[in-house]
Amino acid sequence: MELPVVNHKDYVAKLGDDHKFPINKFGELAKYLIDQKVVKQFHNPTACSFETLNRAHSKNYINDIKNKTLDEKKIKKIGFPLVDSVVQRSLVATGGTVLASKLALNYGVACNTAGGSHHANYNEGAGYCVFNDVAVAAHYLLDRGFANRILIVDLDVHQGNGNSEIFRDNRHVFTFSMHSKTNYPAKKSISDLDVELEDEAYIKSLKFYLNELNNENFDFIFYIAGVDIHFNDRLGKLKVSDEGVRLRDELVVENFSSKRIPICGVLGGGYNKDFNKLVELHSILHQSCAKLI
Ligand SMILES: [Zn+2]
Repeated sequence: MELPVVNHKDYVAKLGDDHKFPINKFGELAKYLIDQKVVKQFHNPTACSFETLNRAHSKNYINDIKNKTLDEKKIKKIGFPLVDSVVQRSLVATGGTVLASKLALNYGVACNTAGGSHHANYNEGAGYCVFNDVAVAAHYLLDRGFANRILIVDLDVHQGNGNSEIFRDNRHVFTFSMHSKTNYPAKKSISDLDVELEDEAYIKSLKFYLNELNNENFDFIFYIAGVDIHFNDRLGKLKVSDEGVRLRDELVVENFSSKRIPICGVLGGGYNKDFNKLVELHSILHQSCAKLI
């Protein structure tokens, strides 16, 4: 059996060649996973429905995205142009994480080749995040009784502020974010890491927090595996190596898989100066999860 992985060609929105965001990574990652024989065939998502989105986002915000009527200031905060392909991408990538979460229930583990839009909030998007796919999928699982106590493990270099705000008063979802102290957004948290942390100190912190998390009884895990913790990332301020990223992903997925808790892995951020390296780093999530199958 192979790892269920969700992908859609519409993940690659048309941003224009001079845009800073490496949007082509989604298409290249899919090719790389096929080349490396991690995946033979992808599961194809559909656009997330209004009703499902509405559990994590306001009606006005969803309509403003779908109708492209969001005001300029809010579009700027997201950082993508509000064009048809970006709207479509946001809907399909969110549907992708919902689908991956359902596959994780059936297979124990499943991944999206996008997702982890953790800065998006109830009423607005931010930092290249339009809809908060993990928050939407978590609500989807809770609503149907598929999970009752969800943990979001967010190891992107940036804090998962959208999730922590959306679920602030929800005792069924716990957000754990371990991120760089000085990276966006400028908000303090107990799991802020010092800048320039290298492999050994990074992994030591991770083990400490996993140990703490193991004292709780979670029944579903979303893992946001941002690779902007890498030393060669354009935005991240940590100094983790390729091997460190691999060790991190393996530690996380093996930790929860050994307790038979379903895991849904999503990409999170990555802005490596080397595009091919970026694709390779993102694929470590899928490779680590494939070992569990
Ligand atoms: Zn990030």
